[in-house]
Amino acid sequence: MKKFKKETIAAKAGIGTDANHGSIVPPIYLSSNFEYEELGKGQEYEYTRETNPSRDHLINALTQLENGVGGEILSSGMAAISLVANILNINSKVILPHDCYGGTHRLFSSLAKKGMLDAYFINQGEESFCKKTIAKINPDLIWVETPSNPLLQAVDIKKISKEAKACDALVVVDNTFLSPFLQNPLKLGADIVMHSTTKYINGHSDVIGGALITNDHEILSKLKFWANALGITGSPFDSYLTLRGLRTLGIRMEKHEKNAAAIVELISTHPKINKIYYPGLPSHPSHAIAKKQQNGFGGMLSFEILGDLEGVKNFIEGMNILPLAASLGGFESLVSHPYTMTHGNLTPDQRKEVGISENLIRISAGLENTEDLLKSVNRGLKKI
Ligand SMILES: *Cc1c(COP(=O)(O)O)cnc(C)c1O
Repeated sequence: MKKFKKETIAAKAGIGTDANHGSIVPPIYLSSNFEYEELGKGQEYEYTRETNPSRDHLINALTQLENGVGGEILSSGMAAISLVANILNINSKVILPHDCYGGTHRLFSSLAKKGMLDAYFINQGEESFCKKTIAKINPDLIWVETPSNPLLQAVDIKKISKEAKACDALVVVDNTFLSPFLQNPLKLGADIVMHSTTKYINGHSDVIGGALITNDHEILSKLKFWANALGITGSPFDSYLTLRGLRTLGIRMEKHEKNAAAIVELISTHPKINKIYYPGLPSHPSHAIAKKQQNGFGGMLSFEILGDLEGVKNFIEGMNILPLAASLGGFESLVSHPYTMTHGNLTPDQRKEVGISENLIRISAGLENTEDLLKSVNRGLKKI
């Protein structure tokens, strides 16, 4: 098949596949089951838990966008992460980022507690990680999440993948924060790329979903087997909505990034702002690596205000058009307070270790008019 650029892949996905009526947009196949054409002969679609045409349209589009050979659509990002955990053998050794997504941490540490596997939560950004730690642990799987939440620290996927190959470990990259438009981990040596499609890919804050894409046929058949065995594939209707969102992902990512960069510029000289975490800033510790392995800096930013919890509260109230909410990647800008929200269940010491202070604020820049957004941030700044 002819190789198209990403925007074209997203726009063309599933178009021209309706042989019955020639509908431009592929219909949603809600049917739970499909009629057998011939007794005793298998066919592509039999039962929707295993395979479904609406899910396949989305899988095919994401597979092309991530340069894979195939993948699976799951009922949530966490279902996708659980699926990876389920293809592992018992007693596997898994290395994860010390500051990974809270749900990932909860799942793997709970599986470890039950004795299913060994989980090692490590700062993958340290010099010694690739040089010594990987070889010393000799893991079966390395889970990577780059850039991290909420400080947007990036790690070198290529370097980690190279070390992982040397000990036959799988590399899985959670690519939720950048989407397939801004980073393609399989091209950098990863074996599986994971998305919470709940975030940028669907982009309209009305679907919970997940995806895994791989470039290895053997891994793919394991993923398909276990997705069906566990019964965690995504619904046809959610797949339809997510593909609808995916069609505009390219243009949305441009605007998300433009709005994030504008906020960064506005606050960068403000006397009430202490530190800014945005990889587009040359002063960010991950600027060079983000520039190397990403196609953009994305729409997320965090910053510390000069002030306490009261100041944070006043800032958030002052911005007024931005809802206080934990998710990200939707059309609407959101503000969150990691210390009490996403990282609220960590101990004070753990929060300190991963750099989450009381005065840290995270913004997921949405698609609003840039001037309106800046006015809102300015109102917040005045209230600190
Ligand atoms: C949201 C999120 C997940 C989990 O996805 P759900 O769709 O909420 O289950 C995993 N990783 C990252 C980075 C996320 O932001």
